[in-house]
Amino acid sequence: MSTGHLSIDLSAVAANWRALDAKTTVETGAVVKADGYGLGAARVAKALANVGARRFFVAIAEEGAAVRQALGPDVEISVFSGHMDGDTALIRDLNLTPMLNSVDQVSRHLEHLPGHGFGLQLDTGMNRLGMEWDEWAAVAEVVLAQRPSMVMSHLACADDPDHPMNPYQLDIFHKMTDGITTPRSLSATGGMLLGADYHFDICRPGIGLYGGAPFKDARAVARLDLPVIQVRALDAGEVAGYGNSWQAARPSRIATVSAGYADGLIRAMSDRATLWYDDHPCPLIGRVSMDLLTVDVTDLGFDPEALTILGPKQSVDQLADRAGTIGYEILTSLGNRYSRQSVTG
Ligand SMILES: *Cc1c(COP(=O)(O)O)cnc(C)c1O
Repeated sequence: MSTGHLSIDLSAVAANWRALDAKTTVETGAVVKADGYGLGAARVAKALANVGARRFFVAIAEEGAAVRQALGPDVEISVFSGHMDGDTALIRDLNLTPMLNSVDQVSRHLEHLPGHGFGLQLDTGMNRLGMEWDEWAAVAEVVLAQRPSMVMSHLACADDPDHPMNPYQLDIFHKMTDGITTPRSLSATGGMLLGADYHFDICRPGIGLYGGAPFKDARAVARLDLPVIQVRALDAGEVAGYGNSWQAARPSRIATVSAGYADGLIRAMSDRATLWYDDHPCPLIGRVSMDLLTVDVTDLGFDPEALTILGPKQSVDQLADRAGTIGYEILTSLGNRYSRQSVTG
C-alpha cells in the first residue's frame, strides 16, 4: 500500500474540548467547519457530543448535513455564512441555525422561514462578516423580539494576547449588545485564552480542539505516516527532484516518499520541512512534487519503510512554521488520498 496513513486521535479531541471548557464558566460549543478542520466532521462531532458539546458551528449550510446526520436532531448547528440565497431548503430540512449577517439576510430569513431559529452576527471591526452599527441599529429591536439563539462577533487578533484590537473589539461588542437578554458569543480558541471578560455566554473553539496554536496545552490529534517507495544512493554532485534544486554535497541515500502537494504537503515545504524516523530527523530535500517527496536518510544508517511528518517530533504548528503558514492551513489541506483511521486511547 502506498498511501500515507493519517490517524486521528478522538480522545485527544475530547480532552482538548474538556480542557478548553474548564477555562470558562460558560457554554463551550465546537467549530467543525471545513470537515472538522480536515479531520472528518462526523467523527469529530460525535466525539465532542459524547463529552457534552451541544452547539456546533459550520461555515456553510452544506457542511451542516454531515453533522446533522452524525448527531441527530438534538444539537444546534449554526452556520457562520448565514442565510444565503438558495440555502432555504437546507436550513429548513436540516434544521440549521443561520447566523444572519446583514439586513438582507434578516429579510430573506424572516420572509422564507418565519418562525425558524436564527442567530445574529455583528461586525466589531474585523470587516469580514456581520452587521455594522447602522444596520444593527435599524433591525435590532425587531430581530431581538424574535428570540435569536445568540448574538455573536469574531475577534481578528485573538492569537496575540497583547494586541490592542482585542480590547477595542470587546468594547464595541459591549456597546452593541449590553442590555440585551440574548446569549452572547465573542470568542474562538484565542479569545477563550484572553480571560473571563471575553467569554460572555458561549465560546466557539475550533483549532484548539484539533491540537493547534494558540492553545499551547492542546494534545496532538493528527499523526501522519508516509510510506517510502524506494531508496537510492547518490554520489556527491548528483541532483534530486524537479528543477535540480538540491545537489548532494556528499554520498547520500535518498528516500522517495509517497505523498506530495496533492495531499496537502504544500510546495512551500520544499527544502525546508523535516520528516522523522522515531527520534531521528530526516530532511526533506528538493522540491515537493504532486505525489512524492524526496528525503535525505543518509544519517539514519538504514533504509526506513515509512517516515513521519506529523507526530510526536513535529506538530502541525511546527510543520506549518517550516512552510511559512499556520496549523489551520496544514490541517485543512490534508488530502483525501490518505487512509484514515480514528484512534482512541
Ligand atoms: C473559524 C471560526 C471560529 C473558530 O476559530 P478557531 O481560531 O479555530 O478557534 C470561531 N468563530 C468564527 C466566526 C470562525 O470563523
